[in-house]
Amino acid sequence: MNIGMLIAGGSGKRMGQDIPKQFLTVNEKPVIVYTLAAFQDHPEIDVIAVVCVEGWEQVLSAYAKQFNITKLKHIVPGGENGQDSIRNGLFELEKHYGKDDVVLIHDSIRPMVSKEIISDCIRVTNKNGCAITAIPCAEAMMETEDGNVSTGSYPRENLRRTQTPQGFFLGEMCDLHRRALEKGITNSVASCTLKIEMGEQVYFSVGSEKNIKLTTIDDIEIFKALLESTRSDWLK
Ligand code: C5P
Repeated sequence: MNIGMLIAGGSGKRMGQDIPKQFLTVNEKPVIVYTLAAFQDHPEIDVIAVVCVEGWEQVLSAYAKQFNITKLKHIVPGGENGQDSIRNGLFELEKHYGKDDVVLIHDSIRPMVSKEIISDCIRVTNKNGCAITAIPCAEAMMETEDGNVSTGSYPRENLRRTQTPQGFFLGEMCDLHRRALEKGITNSVASCTLKIEMGEQVYFSVGSEKNIKLTTIDDIEIFKALLESTRSDWLK
């Protein structure tokens, strides 16, 4: 069993809109519906759960009905931060599914996730016990304390930019979250950083530059452009 767990518990303050960014409409469809459809249409995904920002649960249910997202079976309340929201979702799923089932944790605001990315994340999770979707770093990476001046750089060859989905076995991930709470780790930025903070290693699966995270208004423009774009047929 493979479960897609979409994280939509944030209110999207950085976007500066009144509607949470996962519910903003782009080309007549809410962002979260693009993301839901990617998991709905993937043949290896059996069930979808959404961790939802308070007050938007009924809107989400209505959209799921309108856009025929039949795999959506669980809507779980969000938490104070991303780690809380993910834990809420995992602990709910634990009541319904087995410890060896695979859960793909995915940002609801990454609507361009492809079939290939989901497939590779499932494959690497089954092989290595976890899979963090990632891409190489094309830019030169500089270190800074204040955002103005830098005296250090990182070798980009040794860096990866992580995305979602991030895949795990449900039982192991619930256990990791319980142990993290006992250790006082309560606000890790992502599942991959939580694994590292808990002294464990992570494996990468293949991501894409197109798998963008909608954080600012600029990202919405890029998303719109990506929806329209096709690869020129003369490109090798
Ligand atoms: O804050 P950030 O942009 O990293 O959020 C990534 C994902 O985590 C988003 O899909 C957001 O809705 C979700 N999130 C959440 N609960 C929070 C904060 C963020 O589910 N309290």
